[in-house]
Amino acid sequence: MTTLAEKLDVLSKPGWLFEPGKDGAVRCLACAHRCLIKPGSRGICQMRFNRDGQLMVPWGYVAGAGVDPIEKKPFMHFLPGAEALTFGMLGCNFHCDFCQNWVSSQALRDPASAGSGNYIQAATPEELVQRAREAGAKIIASSYNEPLITTEWAVDIFTIARREGLRCVYVSNGFATPEVLHALKPVLDGYKVDLKCMTDEKYRSLGGRLQVVLDTIKLAHELGMWVEVVTLVIPNFNDSNDELWEMARTLVSISADIPWHVTAFYPTYKHLDAERTSAEILQRAADIGQEAGLRYVYAGNLPGRVGPLENTFCPKCQQPLVRRSGYFVRENRITKEGFCPNCGEKIAGVWH
Ligand code: SF4
Repeated sequence: MTTLAEKLDVLSKPGWLFEPGKDGAVRCLACAHRCLIKPGSRGICQMRFNRDGQLMVPWGYVAGAGVDPIEKKPFMHFLPGAEALTFGMLGCNFHCDFCQNWVSSQALRDPASAGSGNYIQAATPEELVQRAREAGAKIIASSYNEPLITTEWAVDIFTIARREGLRCVYVSNGFATPEVLHALKPVLDGYKVDLKCMTDEKYRSLGGRLQVVLDTIKLAHELGMWVEVVTLVIPNFNDSNDELWEMARTLVSISADIPWHVTAFYPTYKHLDAERTSAEILQRAADIGQEAGLRYVYAGNLPGRVGPLENTFCPKCQQPLVRRSGYFVRENRITKEGFCPNCGEKIAGVWH
């Protein structure tokens, strides 16, 4: 019987995000683990591997693809109401015990996710772009698993998509290297980054490092990608006032125009005993974000229960500009050029 690793290894091709090492080893640059992979070995994500001195990377399949509103990624300041053809592969460089996509993300890392092989469908970049166009999507998003680890595949898709006039976005944990961000710059318009907590110790328990994620937010912003940040607020994990203040102040220090989404957790994967995030906790987190000086704060995953926190307001005159119900845009008053029609304030984002 074919194993999942054998099945995936067929769906791979030589990658280019690496540096050569000694004795046929390669140093992968796709994420901040910077794995040194010897011939016959695999990286921490298990998806990139060394075959006879050549880095092999995932290519030519999706483990899921569908068309959703861009608000579901979530992006609130990126073509409101536009559809996004969203695809994912398998694997991740983190192992969060609260992952809401764990069957896909933990492929080859957790035996319980072995069924993820059933999701695999062969695909080409041309087919995915064609599918987006047929669906009337204006955006292509790499999501569901961690896109950084499959960047060569995304760049091939996005290069064609950009030629066809589509915008391209990542939905990512932000555990990037400067090298991968610079490689993505020519094709990536938007970058949604998870900021999961504010202590390095907790980040390491998930498989990452805090400073790397903060550096990614800053560099992606400096490179001109449209950045939005999401924090899944988990009771007794990252919902203390001190930690939320620290997150908000850190984002303000990069740019007060970065939208911050505080979203509700529900028990899943190995985090089944934790309580759900209440609307009150999200409201408290949002209040902190606004008090810290962030101009755009949203609450997600509790549609209809977070009052105006699904809407966009002008940070100057406070007029409502985009009204939403869950993922759906009911009204958008922002001008095509990106200004408040009431007071003329520039609203940060990608509007046309
Ligand atoms: S993408 Fe995978 S192989 Fe490359 S550095 Fe990250 S974990 Fe290692």
